[in-house]
Amino acid sequence: MLQRLASHCPFSLPFTHPRFFLSFYPPFHHRRLSKPTPPLQPPTALSQTYYPTDAYQRKAIKGAYPKAKRVKRADTPLVLGAPGPLLTRPPDVRQQTHQTMQRKLRAIRGPEVTYDPAAEPRLADFIMNFEFVNTNPLRKGVVPVSEEFNAGCTCDGVCDEATCLCLSKEEDESNTNIVPYRRAPDDPHMMVLDPKFLTRKAMIYECSDRCGCNAGCWNRVVQNGRTVRLEIFYTGDRGFGLRSPDRIRAGQFIDCYTGEVITTAAADLREAIHTAHGTSYLFSLDFLNGQYEDYEEDASSSSSDEDNDEDDQDDQVTESGCKYVIDGRNFGGPTRFINHSCNPNCRMIPVSRNHADRDLYDLAFFALREIPPNTELTFDYNPGSEGGGGVGGGVVGKNAKIDPSAVRCLCGEANCRGQLWPNQRKKGVR
Ligand SMILES: [Zn+2]
Ligand SMILES: [Zn+2]
Ligand SMILES: [Zn+2]
Repeated sequence: MLQRLASHCPFSLPFTHPRFFLSFYPPFHHRRLSKPTPPLQPPTALSQTYYPTDAYQRKAIKGAYPKAKRVKRADTPLVLGAPGPLLTRPPDVRQQTHQTMQRKLRAIRGPEVTYDPAAEPRLADFIMNFEFVNTNPLRKGVVPVSEEFNAGCTCDGVCDEATCLCLSKEEDESNTNIVPYRRAPDDPHMMVLDPKFLTRKAMIYECSDRCGCNAGCWNRVVQNGRTVRLEIFYTGDRGFGLRSPDRIRAGQFIDCYTGEVITTAAADLREAIHTAHGTSYLFSLDFLNGQYEDYEEDASSSSSDEDNDEDDQDDQVTESGCKYVIDGRNFGGPTRFINHSCNPNCRMIPVSRNHADRDLYDLAFFALREIPPNTELTFDYNPGSEGGGGVGGGVVGKNAKIDPSAVRCLCGEANCRGQLWPNQRKKGVR
């Protein structure tokens, strides 16, 4: 352009002519310099096309002033008004615990388990931290005997009292079968304990799936489960208690004592923890370990110092020992509410269906006598113990001392021993 201008520049014209000068040579700042013409050859790898020198600048500006996102606010509804129920009223804790209690009670297998309305607040609180179980959960280290060691009888249809292989035998010369059940005098469909059986200390061996007999065999009672309704109520000084709105016949099966089955080592630990609470829910499954053994260490019990041969023998049995213990503290059935009495109307009897298993069996409650409806169910926590103190701690009997660590008995019976158990753990069934 300059060249073109220069070529047209009429140097011949008077140079000083103002108009001419102005028209052809405008002041410098009025002149616009055109962009340099791009080279014709293709851009090299280092050209601005690929490496713009202001790239960082652009990025920085873009970052500092990002493009606003376009949001259609009209599409987002603004909810005003009723907030959720939690904000309008406080949660009804009582209602919730009530529902939890109902749900847990309904989950118990068999006829309904109810509660006395007067016991509701206490029971609801208690049940929040308790689980009802219908079968005993086996905890770590508890192993049932392998199925191949168990066997059934060869009876056909209904078992024969005289020949059934499931029944245990008298240890005398007669070698006859011990028959645990008989028909209730007033109800041929109901099997109850034979009164003769109550006089002995024996385990009940019921028939099982391995037997040749059918499900209607008379030797299947405990396995068929509870048939009476139960009601939990509050006794006052003795905590919760259990009763039935139904009439219970003498010898009738009521329910099993259920709970976690744990090893004795685990039971020792739990016992140490819960000793302070005074109440023990541990039952040793030691029935077949001997008639009188007590695997509590004598060292821990000052009250049994005077015990003699019997205890020495106990220690030996303890060595081979009871393997398992049932703990009904946190997991259990309604029977955990059955209180002790020194003149009880129920008895706990061991019942086995897996006859080869010496260490795992059921603890079943049977009525010792006719129990009218709504009578509190009780059993003797320590049926093997003798003597103890009378009511008020009077000294009677040969083991007269009341262990200061013992839980006082509040059964109020005339023959009350004054204490529930000298050591924390119950001996299982005797
Ligand atoms: Zn049978
Ligand atoms: Zn049989
Ligand atoms: Zn059988």
